[in-house]
Parts: sequence; C-alpha cells; structure tokens
Amino acid sequence: MELKKMLEYQQADREIFKMENELNQSDAMKQAAKFKAAAQQTMDSLANLGSRARQRMDAVGRLEEKYNKAMAELAELTSECDNIADMKEAEFYDKRLDDIAAEMEALEHDMLTANDELKRITGTIESEQQHLQAYRVRFAKIKQEYAKLKQGMMEKAAPYQKICRDLRQEIDPVLLERYDRVRKNRKMPVLVPFTESGGCGGCMMELSESEKGKLAASGICECPNCGRLVYKV
Ligand SMILES: [Zn+2]
Repeated sequence: MELKKMLEYQQADREIFKMENELNQSDAMKQAAKFKAAAQQTMDSLANLGSRARQRMDAVGRLEEKYNKAMAELAELTSECDNIADMKEAEFYDKRLDDIAAEMEALEHDMLTANDELKRITGTIESEQQHLQAYRVRFAKIKQEYAKLKQGMMEKAAPYQKICRDLRQEIDPVLLERYDRVRKNRKMPVLVPFTESGGCGGCMMELSESEKGKLAASGICECPNCGRLVYKV
C-alpha cells in the first residue's frame, strides 16, 4: 500500500533529517557562518573605504592642478615685472602677486589636509585587510572541520539513503513531490495522522470540511495551516 511505503520512507528520511540538523547546528557550522558574516562586513567596509580613498585622490589631483595653474601665472607675472611702466601698474602687479601667493598658501594647506585624510583612510584599509586575512584563515580551518563532520554524517546516513532510494522507486511520484516540497521547508514529520478531534497531527489545527472531504476521498490531504500531509488510516 502506498501510504505504508510512504511512512516507511519517512521513517528512514527522518534519521537523515536528524543528522542534517545536527550538522547544521554544529559549532563548526555556526562558527563558519559567523566568520563568513564578519568577512562580508569587512569586505563591504573595504569597498566603502576604497571609494572614499579614490574621492580623496581625485580631490588632491584637482588641488594640484589649481596649484600648478597658480604657479604658471606667478611665473608669467614675475617675468612681466621687468616691463612695469609706472607706479599704478606696479601696484597692480604687487596686488596680483600677493593674491596668487595667498591662493597658493591656501591650496598647500588643503593639499596637506587631503593627504592626511588619504593616509588615515589607507591606514584603515590596511588594518581591515589584515582582519579579512585573519577571517579567511579561520574560515578555511573551520571549513575543514565541517567537511570532516559532513563526511561522518554521509557515512552514517548512507544506509538510510539507500532505503529511501529503493522506496522512491515504489512510490507515486506525485505523492513524493508533495512530500519533498514540505521536507524542503525543513518540516519533519511531513506526514502526520489525522487526529481523533478532526485536526492536523502536526499543528493540531482543525481541518475544514473540504479538507476532510479530500482526506476521505484519497486518504491524504494538505493541512492549510502548516502545509503538512495529513493521512487517515
Ligand atoms: Zn497542520
């Protein structure tokens, strides 16, 4: 009978399910998740720092350009000073030279500030990169531990997997597909008995008349609340 086979399948599958849970709740898995999250966070922060560093570098480049322009103007004015015709013209040149000198001084100050900030960002990038490296090393170690645990689980699960594989050949694929869908949502047991009070044996919610009708007709129905497959013997 289909249901009997399906229940046998579930019994073996339940053992595999338990092992999967053990593995998922293992320290190795938790640690791996922790380091993965930390590494991701550090990488995000590095991307952010990188873009800030680029912005600063662009700003320094723009300041340098301005500075060079001021320098060129200064050189030009200095060479023109030889041809000053009168006092009025001399005053104009003096004023212009003073302005350029002040502008250059301000630019030098801005460049130093921008450079300092760039240095700070670069320093932070270096220390974040060291963190990332440390996370990677630890993650690789934990991954090895996890692989070992998984190997052990696979060996323990092998006989149950064989039972499941064999039984799958004998069960209706439509029923299996419904089973797999619930199983994928990590609900176990998938198949639950119809209770004496008329409810789902998984979440205990009372089934509607329409569900009860389906149950009476095919011996199986889906609980609208928890999605499990309710059967009646
Ligand atoms: Zn239910």
